[in-house]
Amino acid sequence: MRTILDPHLVDPSAFEPGLVVDVRDERRALLFDLGELERLAPRILLRVTHAFVSHTHMDHFAGFDHLLALALGRMPRLVLWGGPGFVDQVEHKLRAYTWNVVHRYEVPMVIEVHALGVDGARRHARFDSRRRFERADEPRGPSGEAGDGDLLIDDPLFSVRARFVDHEMSVLAFAIDEKPQLRVASDRLAAMGLATGAWLHTLKDAVRAAAPADTMLEIRWRDRAGEHRLQRRLGELRPLVLDEVPGRRIGYVTDLRFTEANIEQLAQHLRGVDLLYIESVFLDAEREHALRKNHLTAAQAGEIARRLGAKRVVPFHFSPRYRGREEALRAEVLAAMGVQQ
Ligand SMILES: [Zn+2]
Ligand SMILES: [Zn+2]
Repeated sequence: MRTILDPHLVDPSAFEPGLVVDVRDERRALLFDLGELERLAPRILLRVTHAFVSHTHMDHFAGFDHLLALALGRMPRLVLWGGPGFVDQVEHKLRAYTWNVVHRYEVPMVIEVHALGVDGARRHARFDSRRRFERADEPRGPSGEAGDGDLLIDDPLFSVRARFVDHEMSVLAFAIDEKPQLRVASDRLAAMGLATGAWLHTLKDAVRAAAPADTMLEIRWRDRAGEHRLQRRLGELRPLVLDEVPGRRIGYVTDLRFTEANIEQLAQHLRGVDLLYIESVFLDAEREHALRKNHLTAAQAGEIARRLGAKRVVPFHFSPRYRGREEALRAEVLAAMGVQQ
């Protein structure tokens, strides 16, 4: 079955950080980190509805300006998530420019900014191009996007959660979960003497919205014999009519030290992850240097992947000193995971 999300590195050569996650067939995408976004086609960037910034070191946030320049006058809404102080930092970025004509742009733009504090407290603000991007603090997050605990986004097709890891500063590590896919079991449907119709959408919507099992649904269809109507309970129809295929979990983990506390945090967040994007900045021969820079070596990234039980790993954020030697980094990750090559 096709996956709901299609992730790929912003930099296919894996030196610059950043992940773009396309939502298939929906013409929308999520971005993780705002680094060298010039590498992405404008049509991809214009699909971005939500961007998540792990931390505001330049290589993860300098691309904000590129995205904004492209989005002005074209993109009506952009939602940004970041860590402590993020609302202030976006405000500072926006205040660095003069917005005397932006209110005349044909497509107005609202930037909604959310910051997650280390203590779990959240801050929200919106910046509207019709008001020259002046900051307007919001007491609450928008509905469906201000869950509790580590939940940032709860979309009908996916969710995004975040936990902090330490990089001599707090950095967000992300878990992106596809929701289970609902497939109509046409053979069983026919065996029950039912025909397809718009009622299947109603059923799927009710399942996705976690409606109670005793919710009554009307099954309606029309054929040569005329119009058919039946009433059935959701709890009865669901197992008969739908097969539920579990979604994948994707992890995006970058900029962290190799510490037990970080590994423990990731183990709670990403155990059994299907596809793990994890920084692998240096070869393990340069472990001391990696420690000073608060980054992982490839062997340490592989060790983390092994301890999480990751099914597939994509290493990235290679130091530029390894240009031409990327395969050595990848091989070291796989060796530490215990994968035969
Ligand atoms: Zn970095
Ligand atoms: Zn960093």
